[in-house]
Amino acid sequence: ARKAALAASTGPGATSDGHKVPLLANVGGPADVPAAVAAGAEGVGLFRTEFLFLDDSKQAPSEAKQVEAYRKVLEAFPEGRVVVRVLDAGADKPLDFLTPADEPNPALGVRGLRTLLDHPDVLRTQLTALAKAAEGLPVYLEVMAPMVADRTDAKAFADACRAAGLNAKFGAMVEIPSAALRARSVLQEVEFLSLGTNDLAQYTFAADRQVGAVSRLQDPWQPALLDLVALSADAAKAEGKSCGVCGEAASDPLLACVLTGLGVTSLSMGAASIPYVRATLAKYTLAQCERAAAAARAADTAEEARLAAQAVLSGE
Ligand code: PEP
Ligand code: MG
Repeated sequence: ARKAALAASTGPGATSDGHKVPLLANVGGPADVPAAVAAGAEGVGLFRTEFLFLDDSKQAPSEAKQVEAYRKVLEAFPEGRVVVRVLDAGADKPLDFLTPADEPNPALGVRGLRTLLDHPDVLRTQLTALAKAAEGLPVYLEVMAPMVADRTDAKAFADACRAAGLNAKFGAMVEIPSAALRARSVLQEVEFLSLGTNDLAQYTFAADRQVGAVSRLQDPWQPALLDLVALSADAAKAEGKSCGVCGEAASDPLLACVLTGLGVTSLSMGAASIPYVRATLAKYTLAQCERAAAAARAADTAEEARLAAQAVLSGE
């Protein structure tokens, strides 16, 4: 039965009553594109560009090398959306030539956008390479920054994009609770939000994502995390802008329904999860997803939230 449901699972992501939720793929470079296309991804919701930077421990890849890699990904989704995240170096993704070696708490130090603002040449090269890669392609390019804390960060990123002459939508990842709490303020500077629930959980619960002993607090069903998702989605709706999820949370089919019920406008995940999420979302109406979301938020623990959402969706 599961196989049959998956075989029937093609086409754009939507609830059973036709509320569209684009299902996008997370990729690390051109090598991940065939699986994304095969899974029927409607585009890329998170292109983690740090993988391009791992070949050389002393310097950033040349502009030409970056243009080549970006173009291969953009070409795979003609007319589709491709959301490229600028370099997210530091903490769990250190780069020798950019990441300070002597920080006591790297996850709370110079990482993500902070690194790029300290190395404007690296950011400029990346944005210029993206502008060149998108030239002449019909693709709908979106570029976002990791680890945006507030409106000041969002403005600095948007200014850098404009200075590079980038013809794209600029966005901010919501990975730090301050950005979720003041999402409307952040949205004065950018056109979309994308929730990075892996880091958002880490920073909300003060629980290092690399430390297994605190993994209970990394569970994306935690009601506090769902509250921050709801705040971000509500802010985006009020501003007439979009708010996607590109963290691991989006790949859990049941949680994907809850996120949809919270008002999230697109879901991006590893390609392998797309058919499962598509098939599950297609079983429920938007109103059912909203009821499941409300039930999950009313719970006190991650486990209770999951059970509450399950109960609503199975009609108990
Ligand atoms: C996240 O933090 O949820 C995210 C999508 O980014 P990464 O996992 O690459 O830090
Ligand atoms: Mg992250």
